[in-house]
Amino acid sequence: MVPQALRGTTDLLSDEITRWLALEQAVRRLCVVYGYQELRTPLIEDASLFLRSIGQTTDIVQKEMFRVHDRGDQEMVLRPEGTVPMVRAYLEHNLHKTDGFVKLFYMGPMFRAERPQAGRFRQFHQYGVEAIGSASPWVDVEVITLCLHILRECGLSQSTLWLSTMGCREDQQRSAERLRVQLQPDRMHLCKDCQSRFEKNVFRVLDCKQKTCQKIAQEAVRQINQDAGKAPPTPFSLCDECAKHFDEVRSALRDSGIAFDDTQVFARGLDYYTRTVFEVRHAGLGSQDAVAAGGRYDRLVEEMGGPPMGAVGFATGIERVLLAAACEQTQGEVNPTRRGVYVAVTEAGFIREGFRLIQQLHNRGAQAIMSYDGKSLRAQLREADQAGCQFVAILGERELKGRTISLRELAARCGSRELGKSERTVPLEAFVDEVSQHVKPPCH
Ligand code: ATP
Ligand code: MG
Repeated sequence: MVPQALRGTTDLLSDEITRWLALEQAVRRLCVVYGYQELRTPLIEDASLFLRSIGQTTDIVQKEMFRVHDRGDQEMVLRPEGTVPMVRAYLEHNLHKTDGFVKLFYMGPMFRAERPQAGRFRQFHQYGVEAIGSASPWVDVEVITLCLHILRECGLSQSTLWLSTMGCREDQQRSAERLRVQLQPDRMHLCKDCQSRFEKNVFRVLDCKQKTCQKIAQEAVRQINQDAGKAPPTPFSLCDECAKHFDEVRSALRDSGIAFDDTQVFARGLDYYTRTVFEVRHAGLGSQDAVAAGGRYDRLVEEMGGPPMGAVGFATGIERVLLAAACEQTQGEVNPTRRGVYVAVTEAGFIREGFRLIQQLHNRGAQAIMSYDGKSLRAQLREADQAGCQFVAILGERELKGRTISLRELAARCGSRELGKSERTVPLEAFVDEVSQHVKPPCH
């Protein structure tokens, strides 16, 4: 048997790479438009970094970290998420001293030892942003707007924004007690994980994926809110400051025409969240329906040894965005991925001339290929089609005599229907100029 990639990891072959590149480009472009700068952190970090900051009772720390040992005693982990390494880098490079308020973005692989299933992998990819150094609700709104803008740009029109608040630490302490009291009678009906969450971090019951736990949690929150005479159904009893902050976020989102659902009961699983939390869900994804998630983490920078600093960010799962985009793509959509030119020759003797042309194209940064094996014209045309080329340039005896080349644009497809083909004759001298305008590769 030939060797295989590990379960929960994937090879990306060229037809998928095109979609990945388009997404990565959209992320980079929009992050820069919103004033965020890229920061790249290593894939491995000291284990204690995550143990201290994410929370001992979280799924990530308890069961999802890939631990790596070197020959000495140091314990390292493959990074399971982006926020903690970003804050580490922010502090390590003294960005809080030199720059104050900093807006950063990242993109790359994350690793979690989860049970692989549709939309859930062991090596997956995220992009995300972190705006560090401000407690203003406007930054929450900017971050949410950017998160949704990128998703729209990637072709997602059917996602839903869930919005809530977890209040400050004091609110959380007060609310945890109240939630425990409410859940107590149903405690034995919670899953095993939630029974231990009940003790250690009761809000994580609200983040459980088990249907029974979700039902119990929702009922408890409904009761708490009914007793308090308040809506929306966050189980957090908010201090005046936190309530004001949440109102400002919601009002600015409404002003910006961004629809949100603040009636859902949910909490973010990591310990460091305070105040605004949000998730973006997509119905096309089935049970793993969270595409992006984020929120405010006003205490993390200080807990990691820095000064007190407000901060807010999000992380989006790239695989899930692409899955959701594929669900939304209609059958009738024109296939937009044809790229580059294939230089075909009718006789092996013309390879020399063809090679000269593709070298000129390469020097211009234009995407161009040819076959060197003296294949039939038919085989070359098939190869051009399979390679997804936009143009085939045919160099035959007639063309060479007249110092011309036949340029054929390959059909774009609409479902299984081909859309217009065209062929024209171009003077050989003009060919490189003309075609190189059209066939820049996707990263240009
Ligand atoms: P979930 O509730 O699906 O486990 P999470 O709360 O663990 O997600 P975060 O840590 O907030 O997720 O990560 C943000 C996003 O990263 C998720 O919304 C999802 O799109 C993606 N993501 C998280 N874990 C995985 C995974 N194992 N495989 C693929 N994508 C993932
Ligand atoms: Mg998870």
